[in-house]
Amino acid sequence: SRARLQALKEQPSMTQDGRQVLIAANIGTPKDCEGALKHGAEGVGLFRTEFLYLNRDTLPSEDEQFQAYKAALEEMAPNSVIIRTLDVGGDKEIPYLGLGKESNPFLGYRAIRVCLRQTEIFKTQLRALLRASVYGKLGIMYPMISSLDEVRQANAILADTKAELATEGIAVSPDVEVGIMIEIPSAALISDILAKEVDFFSIGTNDLIQYTTAVDRLNENIASLYTPYHPGVLRLVQKVIENGHNSGIWVGMCGEAAGETALIPLLLGMGLDEFSMSAISVLEARELIGKLNYAEIQAWVPEVLAIGTAEGIKEALRLKSIRG
Ligand code: PEP
Ligand code: MG
Repeated sequence: SRARLQALKEQPSMTQDGRQVLIAANIGTPKDCEGALKHGAEGVGLFRTEFLYLNRDTLPSEDEQFQAYKAALEEMAPNSVIIRTLDVGGDKEIPYLGLGKESNPFLGYRAIRVCLRQTEIFKTQLRALLRASVYGKLGIMYPMISSLDEVRQANAILADTKAELATEGIAVSPDVEVGIMIEIPSAALISDILAKEVDFFSIGTNDLIQYTTAVDRLNENIASLYTPYHPGVLRLVQKVIENGHNSGIWVGMCGEAAGETALIPLLLGMGLDEFSMSAISVLEARELIGKLNYAEIQAWVPEVLAIGTAEGIKEALRLKSIRG
């Protein structure tokens, strides 16, 4: 019931046996923070910044971006806000950037690839983010990372930008976390190596499913093939969590799968530390996690990952939820 869920608003997200995770919200503008808090989110796990660049003719200025990031950080403080750098391209078109028509935009010039080539766009965003960092708890996250070089290049530009601000006497928080989205199979497969370069991973299942199973996330004709329950996808997820933990970093998920009720027990059992989802799903997820036993589910994970089909995995999860 609503009242029962409301009572969970101020509660930690904790299993029966004391395993605590973080349940955060995905947002698209600073205005969404209000809803995130109202629905009991313990932070923002993904702030998509594309809104700043869409529906206009020119790039947003540093100050305009700064105001937006500051607003979100202030509203969510002391909880953290993970702000993703520009993820243009693929399904997110921005005409005035003149990126050109491509026959495979999802495999094309996009996101971090644009930022590492058109570095002025990237630097402006990083300056705005770093300036805003003193107003709350900021995480910076790079999208569409496919290689170690990209992480290192992005981090080098971030370090340059920090040095530039220091020269100008502009304050930057010393506690900014830097992470990457794991949404490309090549990144998932070298996540043991990538983990040494960053403070956290956030698994982007929306794209990870698409790239792992070769199923266009927007193509309705093959929508039935697009599923987070594919054992190939889930094995990658499990590996990423394990690799992150082996390097001592936390691992979250900000793709839609993180808010999928049937999947939450398995993700929890794999050791996922943070679940970021649409605000309206937060309290139900907290309630569900509160009923689970971490140790028991952890022991059950290998059994599920040995199943060969998405349908089989779904069925195993369904039986589990019935048995409790
Ligand atoms: C994802 O790919 O899972 C993700 C969260 O990013 P987006 O949906 O914006 O591509
Ligand atoms: Mg994505």
